[in-house]
Amino acid sequence: KSLRIAIIGAGLAGISAARTLTGKGHSVELYDKSRGSGGRMSSKRTEFGELDMGAQYFTARDPRFRHELQRWLDAGWAAEWSPKMYRFDDVGLAASPDEQTRYVGSPRMTALSRHLLVGLELQSGVRIVELQRNDEQHWNLMDDGGRAYGPFDRVLVATPAPQAVPLLKASPNLAQAAAQVRVAPCWTVALSFSQRLATDVEACFVRHGPLDWVSRHLSKPGRSGADSWIIQSSADWATEHEATGANDVTQQLTEAFAQVLGLNLPEPDQRMAHRWLYARSVEPCAWGALAAPELGLYACGDWCLSGRIEGAWLSGRQAADSVV
Ligand code: FAD
Ligand code: NAD
Repeated sequence: KSLRIAIIGAGLAGISAARTLTGKGHSVELYDKSRGSGGRMSSKRTEFGELDMGAQYFTARDPRFRHELQRWLDAGWAAEWSPKMYRFDDVGLAASPDEQTRYVGSPRMTALSRHLLVGLELQSGVRIVELQRNDEQHWNLMDDGGRAYGPFDRVLVATPAPQAVPLLKASPNLAQAAAQVRVAPCWTVALSFSQRLATDVEACFVRHGPLDWVSRHLSKPGRSGADSWIIQSSADWATEHEATGANDVTQQLTEAFAQVLGLNLPEPDQRMAHRWLYARSVEPCAWGALAAPELGLYACGDWCLSGRIEGAWLSGRQAADSVV
């Protein structure tokens, strides 16, 4: 039987669930509070190029995800990225080459979500605040302006765990499970320089000071523009600086960046800061997805699996496969 299904959240988990359910002949509607799509796999358009402000790259370990990735590679939506990898710790900066194959959306991370959404029905700019059971069988969604959407036979919640808790309250088990998941923030700063910085570093795992990660935009396939850099704070630093203003954060993280590279930085031509309140699951779970089939209510997201892009995609697919 073809069901009418709502999915809240158009990140990779929601998109993966939507594609799986559409493939089974169901009628699916996606809702996302954000104007864009792709969730935490986001890129921001600037005069210095489209910069990846969220997820930086992904790895593919599960055979089902590798199979899907091959399709994306064949279509040119994703490409391999092999940066000159470094690490920075209390001893300093050192090359840190490895054998790991890494991938990015091409020519930007959001290329993936944009292509995967083709043919799907997405209502963007709609924040769902409540799920209402309108009879024994059906759900209505309510947005923050009091507007109702529905009726739906099934609802999948594909938001980060803290945002899923209020939406899952009809199932105390699911709501409690989501409430247990601790999610840490992350500050991301993008800096663009019209003159190329004098360094060989293209990506760096940072284990000392406020930062966690540094990457060079132009080292990724298909990118162009200025010598832009993405710098991301550690979860601990972001937690301590959750309420710090964007200007202060930019200044402190830029200083830490200069220290990692060991450079006196020229004045950047562009600075941009973004705070992710729900960036990463502190201890990712291994549930795959959550289901209350008696209510027709399901939950998925990176927090149900590995806290990574691959986990988000697999979790969405698992939630979709459990819909009865
Ligand atoms: P999301 O992408 O968060 O999607 C959830 C969607 O739900 C969002 O679009 C949001 O707008 C929407 N939403 C929330 N509440 C509501 C509501 N009430 N109503 C309507 N819509 C709502 N992973 C990697 O594998 N590699 C990396 O290098 C990497 N780096 C990262 C760096 C940063 C700074 C961040 C923040 C994350 C990073 N990640 C990385 C993690 C990766 O981005 C996530 O695992 C993945 O994108 C999560 O997908 P998702 O669909 O589960 O959730
Ligand atoms: P991966 O295999 O490249 O890295 C996993 C971890 O192994 C890294 O975090 C790093 O600590 C270590 N590592 C890997 N290669 C290294 C090298 N050459 N030198 C030194 N250390 C190395 O990628 P993955 O398993 O797909 O993990 C996804 C990445 O996404 C992780 O780096 C994670 O930190 C990041 N992430 C960040 C956020 C955020 O909020 N900033 C959220 C989710 C995930």
